[in-house]
Amino acid sequence: MPELPEVETVARRLNDTAAGAALEKIIVLDKKLSIPDRKNLRGAVLRRVVRAGKTVVLELSGPESQRLLQIHLRMSGRLFWIDKAENTIHTFDGYVSNVKGVGRKHCRVRFLFDSGTLLFVDPRRFGTVKLVRSAQELDIPGLDPTGSDFTLAVFRKLLGESAQKIKVWLLRQDRITGLGNIYASEILFDSGIDPERTVGSLNSAEIKRLHSSIRKILRNAIKHCGTTFSDFQSSEGSLGEYQNYLKVYGRAGEKCADCDAKILRVVQAQRSTFYCPQCQA
Ligand SMILES: [Zn+2]
Repeated sequence: MPELPEVETVARRLNDTAAGAALEKIIVLDKKLSIPDRKNLRGAVLRRVVRAGKTVVLELSGPESQRLLQIHLRMSGRLFWIDKAENTIHTFDGYVSNVKGVGRKHCRVRFLFDSGTLLFVDPRRFGTVKLVRSAQELDIPGLDPTGSDFTLAVFRKLLGESAQKIKVWLLRQDRITGLGNIYASEILFDSGIDPERTVGSLNSAEIKRLHSSIRKILRNAIKHCGTTFSDFQSSEGSLGEYQNYLKVYGRAGEKCADCDAKILRVVQAQRSTFYCPQCQA
């Protein structure tokens, strides 16, 4: 499942590729999805593509009104752009192993623009598409940890005295949105905090370190276009490269980057957690 940096990367790349295109038609292929009002969007111009929480938002301005189209990729959703002039497929996330079949299977919505077609492909069908009128109506469960609202004071308040383990707490989407297994493990390593600690046991200095590690790790991951576990070369030739900077995630049994201990893997709330027993206390 993509985490915040990967969704940010998809939104930025789609923006670079498709901004300015005019929408001609939206074809919904999956009965599980409905986009009421979509006929009114004919002729709307795609002003910008941004990330909101873990979703991709298309800002459309139509002849009559403005709409935001929010796409939640969830478990298996992907966006592809088929460029009309170049007849090429832009995959944005680089996870596709075979571009030939792209869009034929599991395509749930086709957005036909004048300069190309945006496909929402989602084999497991957990993804959602929502059309709203304003940013206030967007579905974002918690705070964006890269935004200016995510201050140390706000973070302290959100944490409270919870008895939940800190790693499990970081994965909750209703407090801060966008962290998953990879970045939660990396953030806890960076801040030197044992993932088994309870939220309520963290002292003031640890919370401060954790807050700054969240910002730092996400900033670096976005800079490197997220993490890609695939050797597939996208049509753009530029994949996420943050997998080369991971210090604990997926490295069980390997020597810690900062000491002589070996990285351990434990399971917390059915998810793998990787950490260094010596550097994290
Ligand atoms: Zn270590």
